[in-house]
Amino acid sequence: MTPSSERRQPVPGPSFPTMWKELAGIGRDPASGGYRRYAWTGADTECRAWFREQAESRGLAYETDRNGNQWAWLGDPDGTDAVVTGSHLDSVPDGGAFDGPLGVVSSFAAVDELLRRGAAPTRPLAVVNFGDEEGARFGLACVGSRLSAGQLTRDAAYALRDGDGVALPDAMEAAGHDPSAIGPDPGRLARIGAFVELHVEQGRALDLTGDPVGVASAIWPHGRWRYDFRGEANHAGTTRLADRRDPMLPYAETVLAARRAAELAGAVATFGKVAVEPNGVNAIPSLVRGWLDSRAADQATLDTVTAAVEAAAREAADRQGVDLAVVRESFTPVVEFAHALRDELGRILDRGGERPVPVLGTGAGHDAGILSASVPTAMLFVRNPTGVSHSPAESATEDDCVAGVRALADVLEGLACR
Ligand SMILES: [Zn+2]
Repeated sequence: MTPSSERRQPVPGPSFPTMWKELAGIGRDPASGGYRRYAWTGADTECRAWFREQAESRGLAYETDRNGNQWAWLGDPDGTDAVVTGSHLDSVPDGGAFDGPLGVVSSFAAVDELLRRGAAPTRPLAVVNFGDEEGARFGLACVGSRLSAGQLTRDAAYALRDGDGVALPDAMEAAGHDPSAIGPDPGRLARIGAFVELHVEQGRALDLTGDPVGVASAIWPHGRWRYDFRGEANHAGTTRLADRRDPMLPYAETVLAARRAAELAGAVATFGKVAVEPNGVNAIPSLVRGWLDSRAADQATLDTVTAAVEAAAREAADRQGVDLAVVRESFTPVVEFAHALRDELGRILDRGGERPVPVLGTGAGHDAGILSASVPTAMLFVRNPTGVSHSPAESATEDDCVAGVRALADVLEGLACR
């Protein structure tokens, strides 16, 4: 490895629009217009090659960590108290252009801005691309950051399979990353003093307040519950209504109850997946299995909503002579971002402003949420005019992207150049 003293002086790289254009064609499905950049596939490998190119064209020290996350360093990669920014480049099926890449591209653009300002960092600074954030291929989100933070064991990662039965380590190896050393990376995380992820907002809070940029307060607690309504299959033509035990009826009432409970509490609740047995047009179902996804700003609110949904479901099931079993399949408690770092971001961004930068919670998960257990972590959100995300319709205006880069550069300068 080249000693840092012999490394060439870092220089600004390609502009934001140039970087954006370079990424725009990678992994884009021509029919849907959406992105299919799944971890360790050809499209992902192209994105990763692009990241490396960005690092090298700027004279930043490039490295891949044991879990396949990519790093571009301004300053000493082995130094301590580093300020790190970045996001991810992979996508959900038919995802939009902004979720992930906006954070990575803005990070390089913010480093360029610091170089242009002649800012002199006193702490090492890095741009990171976390691998496999969306979990589109192996079914688990944030694999790269989870592994590094010790929240996913090596054995569990080795057991992950994609839809074709390909194991995660085999996929890594095929894409040129040696999987033998994957696992916790406490030494690396201990050298990070602050991680700031810029992300397109996945909601309309900033659109409603009229601000281009906001600071995250927390990631809402969220969970998934499976509702099994069991009745009795029978002939749809010959069974008298009074004699039926039809699980579709309490299921339908439960869907409506979830909506009402969420509305009352200012939360969200969704039945987005349902399985019916025997699933025949002319058969009363024997089983309706629905999955509830619910999220709220705090634990007490979430508990209120899920209790109300379950109570409504039990009452409706009883009325129809249907059995009900409710199983919590997953749960993630609230992630509060580091208050001191969040307040510092607020101070940096408020400087000279007429009103304080908005602080908002989010219902979506991020690498920043995973890392926050190990590292002081903060997030910046860039306004999304429609709030649409995980869809080709996801967007942010050019002006807001510029505002995001400026805010991130101010934050990096404020944190790393004191
Ligand atoms: Zn994302």
